[in-house]
Amino acid sequence: MEFETKTIHSGFAKEDKFGATIIPIYENAAYSYQTAEELQEVFEGKKFGYVYSRISNPTVTEFELRMNAIEEGIGAIATSSGMAAIATTVLTLTQYEDEIISSDCLFAGTYLFFKDVMNKYGVKVHYVNINEVDEWKKLINNKTRLIFFESISNPKLEVPNLKLISMVAKEYNIPVVVDNTVSTPYLWRAKNFGADIIIHSATKYISGNGSAVGGILIDTGIYDWKRSSVNQIKEMSQKVGRLAFIITARSKVYQNIGFAPSPFNAFLHILGLETLSLRMEKHCYNALQLAEYLQNHKKIINVNYPGLKENKFYDIGKKQFNNKFSGLLTFFLESKEKCFKFINNLKLAKNLANIGDTRTLVIHPDSTIYINCTKEEKNLAGVNENMVRVSVGIENVNDIIDDFNQSLQKI
Ligand SMILES: *Cc1c(COP(=O)(O)O)cnc(C)c1O
Repeated sequence: MEFETKTIHSGFAKEDKFGATIIPIYENAAYSYQTAEELQEVFEGKKFGYVYSRISNPTVTEFELRMNAIEEGIGAIATSSGMAAIATTVLTLTQYEDEIISSDCLFAGTYLFFKDVMNKYGVKVHYVNINEVDEWKKLINNKTRLIFFESISNPKLEVPNLKLISMVAKEYNIPVVVDNTVSTPYLWRAKNFGADIIIHSATKYISGNGSAVGGILIDTGIYDWKRSSVNQIKEMSQKVGRLAFIITARSKVYQNIGFAPSPFNAFLHILGLETLSLRMEKHCYNALQLAEYLQNHKKIINVNYPGLKENKFYDIGKKQFNNKFSGLLTFFLESKEKCFKFINNLKLAKNLANIGDTRTLVIHPDSTIYINCTKEEKNLAGVNENMVRVSVGIENVNDIIDDFNQSLQKI
């Protein structure tokens, strides 16, 4: 099946006994069995069955199966948030005194997770310019457990050259973890470029309506876990083969910490996913139109959108993302006051901390998402007080442009 078809027809909802076309919301905590013997077999793993919704749930499984089909993976785990998907992955791959090589431009939540949680438990993170492979190659040692970056970094909008990165990672047998939230699987099949684990915040484009927080991680099946330097995974691979990472992540981290999503949220992610391809076309189209418009607007100092031909990442983005560049852009005004005035005078666009909604969203990252970061940390993330971030929605683009224009007139 092709992408659009998979978003609708993969999974197992078609087996519903009443013929329901969308999987029902299995809003239950536990699952009963006729006999004690049967439940024992399920616990022993001899028989497939649901036990308790912190471990797995049929509605959640449906979301996992569809995302797994789309990313052409060997297994997926849906989580209560994008951050929980990142945490599950990182906690499965690392322990005390291990090291991570990470892009230096990260989503603020990921950066704070590394800083406030992983560092506290003795895991060291090296922040690097991820496209400078010769530089970070020197940092690799026998404690390096993963390489982490975002497909289009939020909000700096840098694009990593994944083929180049994964070539080096493979040479040193280190798994590559890609946060594919901003490009989505519609723009980017990161597996084809060498990603070993793909993460999404399902809160964003996958759900698409700003309706439900959630996340997912997918093992693409490229990495040979028998050769893993993580003992728990290596041991697991002797029992379960290729599924070693997914089963270790689920049984040793996810279910023990309690990262499971609610079945209702998983249902909303499935609904959103069915229209992902249509929405992404429009997000990308609108974002390019708006970026071109703003670029020529005299009140705007600079526009950052990888889809603009003069952007530093245009060529690599074009190749990796099939000539589409997603719906995020940033622009710069003369001052913080002007940014605030611009935001306050908007009529259509919403001022809030999210991306990937059908609605156009704006935010002043410096005074909000990055408020607890130092100047240096903001610099690395590409944030300063003159910047506005826009998540371009799927309204008629003329209405978005009109709204931005009337507000720019007032500053
Ligand atoms: C939002 C976001 C996350 C975190 O996802 P949540 O669902 O908010 O936990 C991770 N990475 C990127 C790139 C994001 O935009």
